[in-house]
Amino acid sequence: MKITRIETFGLEAPLPTPFGWSQAWVTRRRAVLVRVETDDDMEGWGEIYCQAPPVIYTAIVAELLAPHFLGADPWDRDVLWQAAYNATIDAGQRGFVVGALSALDSALWDIVGKACGQPVHRLLGGLARAHVRAYATGLYRQPGDDWIAALPAEAVGYVERGFRVVKMKVGFGIPLDVAAVRAVREAIGPDITLAVDANHAYKPVQAIELGRRIAPYDIAWFEEPVSPEDIAGYCEVRARQPIPVAGGELAYTRFGFRDLLERRAVDILQPDLCLCGGLTEGRAIADLARTWNVRCWAHVWGTGIAQATAMHFLGWMPTKSAYTDVDPLLVEWDNTPNPLRDQIVLNPPVYAAGSVAVPTDPGLGVTIDRAAVARFQTAHSLAGGKS
Ligand SMILES: [Mg+2]
Repeated sequence: MKITRIETFGLEAPLPTPFGWSQAWVTRRRAVLVRVETDDDMEGWGEIYCQAPPVIYTAIVAELLAPHFLGADPWDRDVLWQAAYNATIDAGQRGFVVGALSALDSALWDIVGKACGQPVHRLLGGLARAHVRAYATGLYRQPGDDWIAALPAEAVGYVERGFRVVKMKVGFGIPLDVAAVRAVREAIGPDITLAVDANHAYKPVQAIELGRRIAPYDIAWFEEPVSPEDIAGYCEVRARQPIPVAGGELAYTRFGFRDLLERRAVDILQPDLCLCGGLTEGRAIADLARTWNVRCWAHVWGTGIAQATAMHFLGWMPTKSAYTDVDPLLVEWDNTPNPLRDQIVLNPPVYAAGSVAVPTDPGLGVTIDRAAVARFQTAHSLAGGKS
């Protein structure tokens, strides 16, 4: 089996109403999908966690990375990952390059799974759990001045849909954050787990103050309190306020996660499989997390491909036995508007009653709606032969 063709699709979908997080308003959703084809007509799909105009990623895949994969055997995943990483290390290591490499890598796992009739979690090493508990990601800022008043109803809506864990956005200034957290906690009552995510809005001194002020509302974790490169800041926040600290959605490869772990900077690692280096590197990151005895969940912000990739990862991830019952791992479940998430995959993983089932079909177990891909396409690249 040889890789003959690598095609990359940049997708965009405008939103009728924007929603806000601490750094920006989301006015459209974006995704970049990579399709790898082989000489025996197998195909695999992977997704890049898209954070910039898609044309940047389509060029990186076709011009920079594809030459290292064309003509190669998809079974050689580790070898190909390392060769592509080595060849691009002077300009790569993180960012766009490793994001693009993530999708190529996961597409190879998809192909190999289909080739041998096995779901990706079995290739990773087995199924530790058939369902993964999901937490609701939502509670963003809405346009207008009375957005805090709208949070309680949204939060109660998640609880009514069976979520036992809910995450809300902070990072809008400490007084507004405290008022928002109070409103949500009062609405959902004491039995629902509540977490906050600042998306690196704060300096350590501010994050420490916020953590101390919202800790009485029983906050399960404080996500991205400070800038992702400020590991010393993470350590300060972790030491000087009582809420467990989460981070890593913007960390890359085992080296980025090694630094977070060696410094004891976080209580929860949150690799994004569509950014951190793909399933090949994600497996190494999970092994590091287990080595350092730190929780490892998955950040998910994409289409059904990203969701399925995370579900195989979390379905596989071995944990210590007591940990599994006492401290279950969680998958992030995005509830914000995203036509790409809702339309690109015909059979995405489905949330129901607080958890999501791990896909069982061969490969990633997702079927792509090519008409939907065409409908949202704003950028495209092709490397290799025509089909
Ligand atoms: Mg986050």
